Amino acid sequence: MLSKLCPNLYVESLHCIDLSHLRDIGVLGIVFDIDNTVTMWGSKEVSPTTLKWLEDAKAYGFRVCLLSNNRKARIDDISHMLNIPSAKGFKPFGSAFRSALCVLGTSPRETTIIGDQIFTDILGGNRAGLYTILVQPMSTTEFITTRFLRRLERIVLRKLACRGLLNREDCDLRDPAE
Ligand SMILES: [Mg+2]
Repeated sequence: MLSKLCPNLYVESLHCIDLSHLRDIGVLGIVFDIDNTVTMWGSKEVSPTTLKWLEDAKAYGFRVCLLSNNRKARIDDISHMLNIPSAKGFKPFGSAFRSALCVLGTSPRETTIIGDQIFTDILGGNRAGLYTILVQPMSTTEFITTRFLRRLERIVLRKLACRGLLNREDCDLRDPAE
């Protein structure tokens, strides 16, 4: 069970993910979670750095798609704003990931999911056979159920780290202009 909760890569934020590395390992499509991965929870604002990373991903030729457990109206708004299609379904169920693969037109092995929650994004992604990338949540404001799951996530992350299973990559998030 623990292996299904283990991301292939664990980074601080989207900006730490090397797009050329994804291309090198055969990734063609990227599925993004929304809340606390692309935007702060409940917010529709996307930071300029995140916007640039998303545009870079598109420019690299990756097919991109959103997959969120939030309300449809919110997903549609973000999808429209970012000009990124969205898939239907509730993570971690397999149907949600099949919907995303259908939108992207990629196979599981050609696809990565990027998200901030182990029990939805990573568990579902691993079960569906995707390359899974865990990012740290952008904020601590979340649903009450998510706050409870964060405690379990911390236990899982500690166990994975103890067993040397966590492939963590750190990066310099400072603005080069500073
Ligand atoms: Mg999230």
